[in-house]
Amino acid sequence: MGSTVYLVIPCYNEEEALPETVRQLSEKLKELIASGKADEKSRMLFVDDGSRDKTWSLIDGFSKDNPYVCGIKLAHNRGHQNALLAGLMTAREQAECTISLDADLQDDVDALDQFLDRFQEGCDIVYGVRSKRDQDTKFKRGTAQGFYRFMHRLGVEIVYDHADYRLMSRRALEALSEYREVNLFLRGIVPQLGYRTDKVYYVRKERLAGESKYPLKKMIQFALEGITSFSVQPLKLISNLGIAISLLSVLGLLYALISYFMGAAVSGWTAIVCSLWLLGGIQLLCLGVIGVYIGKIYGEVKARPRFHIETTRLQ
Ligand code: UDP
Ligand code: MG
Repeated sequence: MGSTVYLVIPCYNEEEALPETVRQLSEKLKELIASGKADEKSRMLFVDDGSRDKTWSLIDGFSKDNPYVCGIKLAHNRGHQNALLAGLMTAREQAECTISLDADLQDDVDALDQFLDRFQEGCDIVYGVRSKRDQDTKFKRGTAQGFYRFMHRLGVEIVYDHADYRLMSRRALEALSEYREVNLFLRGIVPQLGYRTDKVYYVRKERLAGESKYPLKKMIQFALEGITSFSVQPLKLISNLGIAISLLSVLGLLYALISYFMGAAVSGWTAIVCSLWLLGGIQLLCLGVIGVYIGKIYGEVKARPRFHIETTRLQ
């Protein structure tokens, strides 16, 4: 007998991709049920992240004709991570495990069987990992690699080339629900949960329809979010930078004194002005980094709710 599986799919302005996504996922879910990997109570749960197009009316419509389609509508656009969390927290009441995937079906649905096999073998968390990145532009591949390496060096445990295609058991979801942080970076939190984990390799496809909701600016923001949510290394770097510059300035001072006593006048204002600007810039940069952390503390202290659910269609 299979387990109750909920496929959790965050959607933001996905009216173009949704009909095909629902069709493909329904087919796949029926196949999983027929093969005994999932049971009859399994569902697809679409989370409308406050879309401005027809996404919600589509989900609502599908939920009437298709018994496997469920949906929740968030009251506002809260971003992919919060939308995903809203879906996972809703699904955990019914599901024995959830699998999160994107609405554009870039994540290969044929890998779902392997996820469920690993779950049956006793894994609580299964990560979908991209086996290759051929389709990405050189730039995206390079920046992504740089990001993973940098995170690794900062001591943050994240799974290489894993996005948010992952299976989580109910108890892993229970554990996740205890993480109350407002600055949500699930890829960093989930590996901290522990439990038995495994990986499933798949080839990430092109977007089905519509366009990416992660332009470069958002991608950079997301990467910074990841770094500052999981590591205080940048703060330590600042202190080290401070020490290094102080040492250098002692050397500079010695040089100035020696040349003074040897009768050679300290050369003009160039050096003074340059160091003034350089130090001013470095100080501002450091203040900025500290400011980012203070901003995060500000957000966490207020502990505002991460999402509000406006409408629910569960069946
Ligand atoms: N998404 C969301 N809220 C947002 C932005 C994106 O729920 O504010 C969803 C989107 O509908 C998709 C997933 O997050 O299902 C990943 O987004 P996208 O495919 O645009 O990102 P990419 O694959 O290009 O990195
Ligand atoms: Mg995508």
